[in-house]
Amino acid sequence: MKICFATNNQNKLKEISEILGDQFELLSLESIGCFEELEETKDTLEGNSLQKAAYVHAKFNIPVFADDTGLEVNSLNGAPGVYSARYAGPERDSFNNMQKLLTALEDKTDRSARFRTVITYMENGQSFQFEGIVEGEIIKNMEGEGGFGYDPIFTPKGYDQTFGELSSEIKNQISHRKRAFDKLINFLKTKESKSA
Ligand code: IMP
Repeated sequence: MKICFATNNQNKLKEISEILGDQFELLSLESIGCFEELEETKDTLEGNSLQKAAYVHAKFNIPVFADDTGLEVNSLNGAPGVYSARYAGPERDSFNNMQKLLTALEDKTDRSARFRTVITYMENGQSFQFEGIVEGEIIKNMEGEGGFGYDPIFTPKGYDQTFGELSSEIKNQISHRKRAFDKLINFLKTKESKSA
């Protein structure tokens, strides 16, 4: 089965194709001829992932999913959350975003946080949403070169290294995106077996 992943983020495409293996053929936006930046103007992860999937589905009429992720920090009432990409400004600079977050947490004792992903899958005009969460802590300094975004300052629960230090294999076993994505794959497999 061919499905499009509505993202221009090469890191995410790589992560998801590693998770997917050969079960489904993943189409990029470029491969279906969609070269524009997808809008994300809603104020929830659910709203943004639906906005992106619905746009591509309406225009190209193919099965498509889109994700939206936020880092939710408890002592900051869930910030940066849906605004994670642009936390330190419109340049979407990961280093500046992490610096701003470390500064905001300087006087906080509670450094607990979670990555939360919402995936919206659309086919035949219907939409379905799947959530994945990984709990953890924001450490005091950046550690590790791997991953992307806030990975160097996030230590998942049960580990003493950040997502930036852990291998991509480990991140892909436990991440928010993997957990949301597993739910989508189960949904697709169940649907295929019912229609077989
Ligand atoms: P997006 O809107 O889903 O692309 O995610 C918003 C922002 O969250 C990104 O720009 C990254 O800064 C951050 N982010 C998303 N996924 C991850 C991840 O797996 N690790 C670290 N940061 C992430």
